[in-house]
Amino acid sequence: MAEAMTARLLVIGGGPGGYTAAIRAGQLGLDTVLVERGRLGGTCLNVGCIPSKALIHVAAEFGRAADHARGSAFGLRAGPPELDLRQAVEWKDGIVDRLNAGVASLLKQSRVRILHGQAVLLDGKTCRVETDTGTQTIRAEHVLLATGSEPVELAALPFGGKVISSTEALSLTEMPKRLAVVGAGYIGLELGMAFARLGAEVAVVEAAERILPAWDADLTRPVLRRMERLGMDVLTGAEARGLSADGTALRVALPGGAERGIAADAVLVAAGRRPCTRGFGLETLDLAMAGPFIRVDARCATSMRNVWAIGDVTGEPMLAHRAMAQGGMVAEVIAGARRAFDPVAIPAICFTEPEVVSVGASPAEARAAGQEVRVGQFPFSANGRALTEDDDGGFVRVVARADNHLLLGLQAVGAGVSELASGFALALEMGARLDDIVGTIHPHPTRGEAVQDAARKALGQAPHG
Ligand code: FAD
Ligand code: FAD
Repeated sequence: MAEAMTARLLVIGGGPGGYTAAIRAGQLGLDTVLVERGRLGGTCLNVGCIPSKALIHVAAEFGRAADHARGSAFGLRAGPPELDLRQAVEWKDGIVDRLNAGVASLLKQSRVRILHGQAVLLDGKTCRVETDTGTQTIRAEHVLLATGSEPVELAALPFGGKVISSTEALSLTEMPKRLAVVGAGYIGLELGMAFARLGAEVAVVEAAERILPAWDADLTRPVLRRMERLGMDVLTGAEARGLSADGTALRVALPGGAERGIAADAVLVAAGRRPCTRGFGLETLDLAMAGPFIRVDARCATSMRNVWAIGDVTGEPMLAHRAMAQGGMVAEVIAGARRAFDPVAIPAICFTEPEVVSVGASPAEARAAGQEVRVGQFPFSANGRALTEDDDGGFVRVVARADNHLLLGLQAVGAGVSELASGFALALEMGARLDDIVGTIHPHPTRGEAVQDAARKALGQAPHG
C-alpha cells in the first residue's frame, strides 16, 4: 500500500459541486485532494445538463427542418430532414470531452491533486481509494462530501434491457420507434419531447394528476399543449406497473383501475433522483440526516466537525448551479471566511419546448406565505420579437408585494426564456421593485421587453408600443 497522503481538504466527488469547491480551495491556497470514481464533471457534465441540452438542440433543429419540409408561414421550403443519431451522439460526446478537459485544466491550475477511484470513508478524516495503481489512504483536516445523486430505480421496472435511465437515453445510437417515458418531471419531459421531435412515438406516464407536478400549473399548460400538438400520448393519474409478460409493452394502471399496455421499444424511467449515500462508508460517520439527504447548516457543515457536504447529496433543489454555489462558498468557509449559503432564490429551468423558468415565489406560494401580492402577466403574442420569430406562445409573469412593490418572483414560459432566468435572479438578489424594472431601458425588439410590460401591468399602467 502506498504511503498515506495528507491534505488540508479532501473532496469526495468531482461533479459541479466538488470540482467548484476544489478549484476555489486551491485558488485560496488550501492543499486539496479530489477523488472521483467516474469522470470529472459528474452527472451534470457527463450524463446530465450538458448532454441533455445537446440532444435537445439536435431535436429542435431537426424539428424545425421537418416543419419547413411541411411548408412554413413565411415561405421557406425544404426537403425532409434525415438524422444520423450516431453522429449526433459523437458530436455530443465531443462537447463533453472538451468540457471535461476544461475542468481538469482548471483543477491543475489550482494545484488540486486528483485521484481516480472509489473513495471509502474510514472515519471523519480518513478515506481509502482503490486506484488503478493500488490502494491509497488519504488523511485530511477537512472532508467535503459531494457524491451527488443517481436515478431512482422502480422495483417494478428495474434498469436493464429496454428499461433505461436518462444516462442510457442520452447515448442511444438507434432511434426507438416507440418510447414510453415513466415520470413527467423535468428530466422525463425534456428527453421525452426531444425524442418526439426526432420522430419517435412517445407516451408519457405520470402518477400525479398533471405533468410537471412540482411546477406552477399555469406555466406548464403551454408545455402540455405542445406535447399534444407533437402527438405525444400523455397519461396522467396513471401508474407504471412493469413490463408485460412478453416484454413488448409497458403495463399502466389508469385512473379508475383499468390496465393498459403501451407498446414500447424502450422505456425511459425518469421517476426522480436519490442522493448517493451508500457504498462508501458514510454510515461509519453516523451523520445527522434530513430524510434521505445529508443534513447541513447554512455553511454546509454536517453534524460532524470539519465534515462538510454540498450539492445533490444535501437535498432539493437538485440542480447544478446550487451545487456550484455551495461549492465555492464552502471552500471559502474552510479557508476561514465568514460565509453562508443564503440565496434569495435559486432559478429553476425546464428545457422543454417551450422552456419554463421559475425564480422565487409563484403567486400561490407568495399568498400561502401570507403576502398580499400584485401580479402582472404579459403574453408573447403581443411581443414583437416573438412574433418575428414565428413563436408567440407563452408569457412572462411578475409577482410583487402589494405594499412596497418588492419583487417576490418572476416566471416565464416560452421559446428561449431560459436566457431570461439570470436577469430574474439578479432582480431578486438586488431587491428590485416593479418600478425598477419599469424604469430600466429594455432593448427593443427582445423577448425581455415582456418582463418590463409584465411589471407595467402589475402597476396598473398601460403597455407601451
Ligand atoms: P454529481 O454531479 O452527481 O457528481 C457527484 C460525483 O461524485 C460523480 O461524478 C460521482 O462519480 C462521484 N462520486 C460519488 N461517490 C463517490 C465516491 N465514493 N468516490 C468517488 N467519487 C464518487 N441541473 C441543472 O442545474 N440544469 C440542468 O439542465 C440539468 N439537467 C439535468 C439533466 C439530466 C438528464 C440529469 C440526470 C440531471 C440534470 N441536472 C440539471 C441535475 C444536475 O446534473 C445535478 O444537480 C448536479 O450534477 C449535481 O452536482 P453534484 O456535484 O452534487 O453531484
Ligand atoms: P421528478 O421531478 O421527481 O419526477 C418524477 C415523476 O415521476 C414524478 O412526478 C412522479 O409522480 C412520477 N412517478 C414516479 N413513479 C411513477 C410510476 N410508477 N408511474 C408513473 N409515474 C411515476 N422533488 C421532490 O421530490 N421534492 C421537492 O421538494 C422538489 N423540489 C424541487 C424544486 C425545484 C426548484 C426543482 C427544479 C425540482 C424539485 N424537485 C423536487 C424535483 C427534483 O429535483 C427531481 O426529483 C430530480 O431533479 C429528478 O427529476 P426527475 O424529472 O427525474 O424526477
